[in-house]
Amino acid sequence: MQPLKDIVIVGGGTAGWMTAAALSKMLKGQYNIRLVESDQIATIGVGEATIPMINLFNRMLELDEDDFMRQTQGTFKLGIEFVNWGRIGDRYLHGFGVIGQDGWTVDFYQHWLKQYLAGKAAELDHYSINNVAAMHNKFLRARPDLGNSPLSQIVHAYQFDASLYAKFLRNFSEARGVRRIEGKITEVRQRDADGHVTAVVLEDGTQVAGDLFIDCSGFRALLIDAVNTPFEDWSHWLPCDTAIAVPCANAPELTPYTRATAHGAGWQWRIPLQHRIGNGHVFSSKFMSADEAQSILMNNLDGEALAEPRTIRFRTGKRSKAWNRNVVSIGLSCGFIEPLESTSIHLIQMAIAHLITYFPAGGFEQADIRQYNRVMDEEYRWARDFVILHYKATERNDTRFWNYCREMEVPEDLQHRIDLFRSHGRVFRDGLELFTKHNWLQVLHGQRIRPRAAHPLVDLTGEQQISGFLHEVESVIRNCVNAMPTQAAFIAANCAAP
Ligand code: FAD
Repeated sequence: MQPLKDIVIVGGGTAGWMTAAALSKMLKGQYNIRLVESDQIATIGVGEATIPMINLFNRMLELDEDDFMRQTQGTFKLGIEFVNWGRIGDRYLHGFGVIGQDGWTVDFYQHWLKQYLAGKAAELDHYSINNVAAMHNKFLRARPDLGNSPLSQIVHAYQFDASLYAKFLRNFSEARGVRRIEGKITEVRQRDADGHVTAVVLEDGTQVAGDLFIDCSGFRALLIDAVNTPFEDWSHWLPCDTAIAVPCANAPELTPYTRATAHGAGWQWRIPLQHRIGNGHVFSSKFMSADEAQSILMNNLDGEALAEPRTIRFRTGKRSKAWNRNVVSIGLSCGFIEPLESTSIHLIQMAIAHLITYFPAGGFEQADIRQYNRVMDEEYRWARDFVILHYKATERNDTRFWNYCREMEVPEDLQHRIDLFRSHGRVFRDGLELFTKHNWLQVLHGQRIRPRAAHPLVDLTGEQQISGFLHEVESVIRNCVNAMPTQAAFIAANCAAP
């Protein structure tokens, strides 16, 4: 086995520059890192909403949050608002962070559920500081110094301009020794003996040789395809295959959340940034024409369109091996679960973290590669099942698309979660999975799955005690939110882009 020296990253989108930034920071100049990208091939240019795990990535890079927000025209994200999903006219928030207060033997939400099923409790949103703050366009960073206060429980992610984010990370990486090579790759060279990639060749004949190749070439999947890696298609569970994206002018209120509005054959995203709103209609071309999808999108913008709409085709699924031979695929080249819960950038981040865990410094070991592939399979499966839930758990029957989704068979693990929730509202987190009980609860409830009863042990607590407690949690949260600034005021004071 040869010790590793040369790392070649192919692609300079979000995946490529996140990988370059992380490796340049973690490997401390001990490796020769080059990134090849082509100005002739645009990046996908979407991917603007994140989830809170990105804070770990930013902390690892030791970024200053205010500076990061200014340079990417960023806004804070407290959750996602879902409109028209369970039924037309429904609206719920899937907020980050917790519901209620920890410390009950039987979870807080079980007490809430008992009262809710009896028509004696407010909607779930009222017991989460993230959700109440989002409803009032408020924002504050969590205050861990405030002990048990809900203000210490605020959990945030970001919404940012994808091209500015890549630029920001490029500056970061180049300052730490990553060399960028401009050029279009026209050939991938492989060794006869084991099929390992030895070099990529550019249009002008330049060869870029390396030991480890990281494929961040997006849907083109240049290298992971070259090493013959099958693709597992998930479109029977996630039938959307096209997006039309268009930015528009800002609305008067700067909302601290992403909105996902269901339409007849998919849904529309709304991602507010400091300088504009990003919008897109994700739909299934089997159930709706592109013309109809575009006209729905253009009729549902908050402000004047700032560019021509752009169509992006995609296929949901994942490579059977994220790491094959000496190629690790990260980002869209590895797989895509459609953007509903903003999990793609998170999956890039996890791929980088696991690559560092199994880093082949001394050469390639099959056991490391196998384990990396197992953990990446899990990461994708967790995110996939959570997204499928949004389509499956619906009462909509107004279009062929929703009839298909409602009646489709879903993966066994997901069906088990739905059945478990239906019986006594039980939710669980599977090992180190991304989504917590609170995430599952909000979506299961928000999509109208109703348990037959609450946890039987809740009956051990008197009804008056439960309602007093619910009332207290709700009013403390309300008071905290009243004291918070609006997100617009917070940004103006701390991190407005120049
Ligand atoms: P790309 O951005 O496509 O970059 C590919 C790179 O490879 C480019 O630099 C290109 O020049 C280079 N390249 C390709 N071929 C060659 C060649 N022959 N020679 C040289 N260079 C080459 N994710 C989220 O987390 N949140 C979201 O809200 C979100 N929304 C999305 C909405 C849609 C409709 C889609 C499709 C995706 C969304 N995603 C979202 C996913 C997110 O956009 C991607 O995960 C992210 O942008 C990473 O893309 P990438 O870097 O893998 O690929």
